[in-house]
Amino acid sequence: MNTVYTFGGNAPHDDPRQKDKTVTGGKGANLADMASIGLPVPPGFTITTEECTRYLTHGESFSDELRAAVAQALGHVEQTVGKRFGDAADPLLVSVRSGARVSMPGMMDTVLNLGLNDETVQGLASASGDERFAWDSYRRFIQMYGDVVLGLDHGLFEEALEIAKEDRGYFADTELSAGDLKELVGEYKTIVAAERGEPFPQDVNEQLWGAIAAVFDSWDSERAKVYRRLNAISAEWGTAVNVQAMVFGNMGDSSATGVAFTRDPSTGERAYYGEWLINAQGEDVVAGIRTPQYLTKAARENAGAEKPSMEEAMPEAYAQLARVFDLLEDHYKDMQDIEFTVQQGTLWMLQTRSGKRTAKAALKMAVDMVGEGLINEQTAILRVDPMALDQLLHPTLNPDAPREELGTGLPASPGAASGKIVLDADTAELWSNREEDVILVRVETSPEDIHGMHAARGILTARGGMTSHAAVVARGMGRPCVSGASGVSIDLASRRLRIGARELKEGDVITLDGATGQIMAGRVPTIEPELAGDFGVLMEWADKHRRMGVRTNAETPADCKTARGFGAEGIGLCRTEHMFFDASRISAVRAMILAEDETARQSALDRLLPEQRSDFADIFRTMAGLPCTIRLLDPPLHEFLPTRDEEFAELSDSLGLGVDHLKRRANELHEFNPMLGHRGCRLGITFPEIYAMQARAIFEAACEVSTSDEPVVPEVMIPLVATQKELAILRALVDRVAEEVFADTGSRVDYLVGTMIELPRAALMAGEIAEEARFFSFGTNDLTQTALGVSRDDAARFLGAYVDKGIYARDPFVSLDVDGVGQLVELAAERGRATRGDIKLGICGEHGGDPESIAFCEKVGLDYVSASPYRVPIARLAAAQAAL
Ligand code: PEP
Ligand code: MG
Repeated sequence: MNTVYTFGGNAPHDDPRQKDKTVTGGKGANLADMASIGLPVPPGFTITTEECTRYLTHGESFSDELRAAVAQALGHVEQTVGKRFGDAADPLLVSVRSGARVSMPGMMDTVLNLGLNDETVQGLASASGDERFAWDSYRRFIQMYGDVVLGLDHGLFEEALEIAKEDRGYFADTELSAGDLKELVGEYKTIVAAERGEPFPQDVNEQLWGAIAAVFDSWDSERAKVYRRLNAISAEWGTAVNVQAMVFGNMGDSSATGVAFTRDPSTGERAYYGEWLINAQGEDVVAGIRTPQYLTKAARENAGAEKPSMEEAMPEAYAQLARVFDLLEDHYKDMQDIEFTVQQGTLWMLQTRSGKRTAKAALKMAVDMVGEGLINEQTAILRVDPMALDQLLHPTLNPDAPREELGTGLPASPGAASGKIVLDADTAELWSNREEDVILVRVETSPEDIHGMHAARGILTARGGMTSHAAVVARGMGRPCVSGASGVSIDLASRRLRIGARELKEGDVITLDGATGQIMAGRVPTIEPELAGDFGVLMEWADKHRRMGVRTNAETPADCKTARGFGAEGIGLCRTEHMFFDASRISAVRAMILAEDETARQSALDRLLPEQRSDFADIFRTMAGLPCTIRLLDPPLHEFLPTRDEEFAELSDSLGLGVDHLKRRANELHEFNPMLGHRGCRLGITFPEIYAMQARAIFEAACEVSTSDEPVVPEVMIPLVATQKELAILRALVDRVAEEVFADTGSRVDYLVGTMIELPRAALMAGEIAEEARFFSFGTNDLTQTALGVSRDDAARFLGAYVDKGIYARDPFVSLDVDGVGQLVELAAERGRATRGDIKLGICGEHGGDPESIAFCEKVGLDYVSASPYRVPIARLAAAQAAL
């Protein structure tokens, strides 16, 4: 098996491993693909991801085999280009870039212009006939290599560059002459020597291997780790390295470089979209140092920009590019995100990949492409990341609300966000951990800011275009972002900033509209989203293709209504205790718990009964005949105990018992480990009158609301069952109360009694338990807690480290531990079905709204998943994807 694959020129591209992203990474696989369909790709080679893993696990060393393969591949590049690496007369220069299986924008490292040294720079100058270009390339190389490979602070180089310009009274980099740049190179080399204690490496092979090692090492950089954790990328995948002949966008005014999308990544509109710069190298566009120009004439006119678009300034190269766009969309059947360079009028493709897009754009493109006949419904369903829908399900700014505009920037990632201004990523994380909404405001963002971008509600930058780091990352994360807002100036020292004419300080509240680029003072009110249009169409397709039902976890009529609006087909979990925490009821609940005898308890329960009944009646009405699973009281009594003196005083008044007495009683009920204590069905076993009251409320409400058109069929669910006996006792109790209510009211409803499977013993004994249960609902929150022996309330302290170290690929409370907990689910489903063929099986733990866990539920053949209201559309789409 090859460790290195060549592409471009006359390289063969027929080994399927070369186009397998898991082997050659996204960039490597697509470069080979583009070369094989005849697009202009500079020749190069890809070192496989397997070599990255080998390097990182073998003490960061390279094998002889790899060294030989690289030498041979370099030969291919030399031959194709007709130049030699390190040739003092006319040197081959290469770029060295990372390329993981999935794109991780800005997370890992790139070195350009590699192969320059004090000799080859002269050769480049004479061969290109452009001395300035040669010296500019060399100074860029030292700067990048110094930063990426030698680990020097790139600020040192920036400072030297700024001083060089200032000393000469220049404004732009382009004003520096060949002589100026030559001097600057000298200064850069002095910086390297001073910082490193050794000179800048002149041996081109040493440069190459240094860069390869740096790319491999960058896989384990802190920022890459954070990105991996946020995006569920496995540490084991590794990155490939792409070494490619350089082409130059900075060889004068017939050269250019740019990034482009074949459709608008923000709106999904079918229009070429991109940015480019004349006489520049790739990183100038993405780094947001120079403000780029528009690609098309229409976009330029639309924005009222003056500098010509590429369509106007370089019509021939633009026409060539447009042809390539069409070829690529036709080949990949998807919107492509492209990097290109024009070297003295000739177009070169440096990269293509399926472009990141907002949820809105993803929907529009998927639906449009079905209309265009490019893809079918199934592919459209698979195209949209269910989690991305989240962006569309949340409120947008109320267009009628007054707003005080402070300034505008580019509409880089849509959505509305309000929050307190924070000026750095660490503060963003800190404040957001305190449950504050924050807006991260930066001059520009860098990959080191990723944790702060994640913590923030929205992102505002003073510099950078639509394809800047901030914009790309924000779109991927679904955070509203306004970028390139030139009216923003920040003074980090005083933690103050100015937006337009307004002086603000860190902590002041602003609102961003990422769809228009507006920045507003204070908090602007929002409205609920519109779920029609493309969203509706895709959801309809999803419903057609899914097998599992989708229900919701809800306990208020408002939540039920939201969930129905999102397409919920019933309630999978109504946690009745949430009704108990209501301020007006808590004292009756406490009276019930602290009661010393049955009479006192009954009198408290009598106060709760009508309240519960009306809760259930409201829910049944809202759900209009759809199935409703209602779970009887579950949490430890401990959670309801009063803690504050006023609470004791109030109870003392209402119960006529002394405060000391009540405190003693509360102390008796205190538990050391309440999650494994007096909770769930154990409450029903020890205080049957509590469950009897709840059952009565359910059946009375059902009898009241049920009609022949919309019959109410309550599903009464018993939590935390471990044994068949517990369920048998409680089922008998529910049956008895049902019959009493039917006799009292003279009407009758169908109902089911079932249980949660949320303890390992229950999963193992599911065969027996099913004799008493008409349905199982997997409570995977508790099942995860009890199977892993990890407290769901305390896990946050250490699970992050577990995920970082790859012990669990994802937080097992977010995404089901399919290997372990999954076995319990699978086994319980099998055993339950063996006893009762028509047993209804669902899941109501948080995992019911997680796409990967939903895929597992489909595999095990569950009948439905239940998710919180805002997750319902996500679950519908994920269930369809799982079924395809
Ligand atoms: C569960 O344990 O998965 C569940 C849904 O119940 P709760 O989260 O209320 O314990
Ligand atoms: Mg539970």
